[in-house]
Amino acid sequence: CGIFAYLNYNVNRERRFILQLLFNGLRRLEYRGYDSAGIAIDHDQPLVFRQEGNIESLVKSVYQEVDALGLDLEKSFSVHAGIAHTRWATHGEPAPRNSHPQTSGDENEFLVVHNGVITNYQVLKETLIRHGFTFESETDTEVIPKLAKYVFDKANEGEGSHTVTFSEVVLEVMRHLEGAYALIFKSLHYPNELIACKRGSPLLLGVKELNEESNSGSTFHDSKFLSNNDHPKELFLSSDANAIVEHTKKVLMIEDGEVVHLKDGNVSILKFDNDKGRHGGSLSRPAS
Ligand code: GLU
Repeated sequence: CGIFAYLNYNVNRERRFILQLLFNGLRRLEYRGYDSAGIAIDHDQPLVFRQEGNIESLVKSVYQEVDALGLDLEKSFSVHAGIAHTRWATHGEPAPRNSHPQTSGDENEFLVVHNGVITNYQVLKETLIRHGFTFESETDTEVIPKLAKYVFDKANEGEGSHTVTFSEVVLEVMRHLEGAYALIFKSLHYPNELIACKRGSPLLLGVKELNEESNSGSTFHDSKFLSNNDHPKELFLSSDANAIVEHTKKVLMIEDGEVVHLKDGNVSILKFDNDKGRHGGSLSRPAS
């Protein structure tokens, strides 16, 4: 029922800080209602933690698991992409396997947090099962990361290394989805990148440039806002502005059909064009 993500770029953040920031984001979304929650953070491969019940029971179980895995809370990351979710079940009872992030499989090649409902998930699920995928949840959401893996594998058939970009994968996935969604994708294949997109469900982007005077006063009207540069920054994605405004006032509402790609300190917003079945290219958007 709420999605949140935090990406720090060129600024050192400890694992403990990143976890706290993700948990705080979820606490800000709690009022929207939820029955389970989950997060994914970076390790050698993306690590997923999911729990039914309230945010605090997720928090508790994450720290227990982090301890059991021997992960260092003081380990610092100069780039890190974390995603988080509070769930209000529409398909599948509240349970860890049905909580988000939903995954493409054991390796967590593609992870997705979803707010909304995919109405044609049955058809997609049957098709993916025919292609050899096995499903572990009863959610409508699980088809999304599995479809991403299918698209990715298909695009890289016969290739040594992958040439398809993360946004190309997501745009192709969107072509198949019907219903309402705000989505955030994280991938083993595209470390330090996040993609978000939406149709029908709310989604906002926050940008905090560090060490910049412009930070306090400027708004999206500044052309600098979607700055493409190497400056240290923190990027936020959320279903609700109240999980972002405590960090930055630069908040942009993402519109239906837009795809936000966070990569190498750059924010690009692409427009999904369903009629053509392809995207319309990069959109430099002076916000109204
Ligand atoms: N339809 C998805 C599910 O039941 C997402 C629900 C939500 O928006 O929290 O898992």
